Amino acid sequence: MQFYSTNDKNTRVSLREATMSGMAPGGGLFMPSVLPVIPRAFFNNIGDMTIKDISYVIANILLSDEIDSSELKEIVNGTFDFDIPLCHVEGRLYALELFHGPTMAFKDVGARFLARLIGHFCDKDSEPVNVLVATSGDSGGAVAAGFHNIPGINVFVLYPAGILSKVQRAQFAAVGDNIHAIEVNGSFDDCQSMVKKAFTDVDLRQQVNLTSANSINIMRLIPQMFYYFHAYARLLHSGSHPGEIVCAVPCGNLGNMTAGLMAKRMGLPIKRFIAVNNANDVFFDYLETGSFTPKNIVKTLASAMDVGNPSNFTRILDLYNGSHSQLAADVIPYRCSDREISDTIVDTFCADGYLLDPHGATAFKALKDNLQTGETGFFLATAHPSKFSEKINDITGSKIKIPDQIEKLTELKQRYTKISALYPALKNFLLETTR
Ligand SMILES: *Cc1c(COP(=O)(O)O)cnc(C)c1O
Repeated sequence: MQFYSTNDKNTRVSLREATMSGMAPGGGLFMPSVLPVIPRAFFNNIGDMTIKDISYVIANILLSDEIDSSELKEIVNGTFDFDIPLCHVEGRLYALELFHGPTMAFKDVGARFLARLIGHFCDKDSEPVNVLVATSGDSGGAVAAGFHNIPGINVFVLYPAGILSKVQRAQFAAVGDNIHAIEVNGSFDDCQSMVKKAFTDVDLRQQVNLTSANSINIMRLIPQMFYYFHAYARLLHSGSHPGEIVCAVPCGNLGNMTAGLMAKRMGLPIKRFIAVNNANDVFFDYLETGSFTPKNIVKTLASAMDVGNPSNFTRILDLYNGSHSQLAADVIPYRCSDREISDTIVDTFCADGYLLDPHGATAFKALKDNLQTGETGFFLATAHPSKFSEKINDITGSKIKIPDQIEKLTELKQRYTKISALYPALKNFLLETTR
């Protein structure tokens, strides 16, 4: 499989280059040159397959020309060595719980797969690889856990001051060793644009070997496709004749949305997606009006979705050749307010005994409002509610039990460097630290 850049469809790079450079020259994003349609027969048996089996089949279709199958199997099995259950919530509504990995958010999937691929490609004897990641919450921890103590790799996590929950910050700032935390006196969009500047800074890139672990790196999105197929398999396996399937996705940088649409392109029978925004409704507006206008960030309860200029929008547009009408036929918009998030968490806990986190709550609400007779819906439960215990305790008025793996972490000493939201501050820090 080769990859082209959204800026220049004639460039073709190898899997290795797409993985290791993270972003295409000039700021383009890499896309797979083809997304082969999987033969129907595959879907007949999918209900009997595990997520590892399913992922291995699809990874082989996409990546086996550059990585041999036994290696690919190890990468896939290592990535998915935690459960991703599809849990019944009520009626014909299911939660795909993506939060049972080491940092309890879906980002573990992409980060673990990417870490293994970079480990596979990096030349152990040459220059260290410096992984740069901006986080609005969960990417930082997932990437830190995925890359901790891998020889030859340094990780730099940029995060906006004052936004992250205690747990989210501890998941990378308390790790130490090859993981460096950088607190930016600005917003997540500032962090993201500083990272993008670093990738387009020719002078920096001549001196420092950089790659991205944000979802601008296509190798974070490839494994995220796999769990959509897995959700479909679980629905079939439940023997409940799902009928037509609808999927709701809580959106921030649109990585999950992009992965879902790529899975559909490969033949996954999902009738429609619901793209769910909180008050940061740039994609909602685009779907409604056809015009895309980045906005300033508004703080909400679902903070990992607080993104004003989602970087994967370019990929979605590319996937649909810029056609708003074709995209709008596959994806419908939904917007959820903070008030609706709190009410949904309380109501669902009272009615079903199911505790949603603020991000999953947006998608559950969207699905519930939108599902038609004869359809079955699942939504991506992107993080464990205990990652947001302060908010959840406020909303429910009772105290959520914190898993041990998280409790211990917040007691550790955190280390981070504060910098301004101007690009030279990041550049200097990278040059000094990697020298
Ligand atoms: C990152 C994140 C999102 C948004 O996902 P994207 O792929 O960036 O759209 C949603 N929920 C949680 C908990 C997240 O950490």
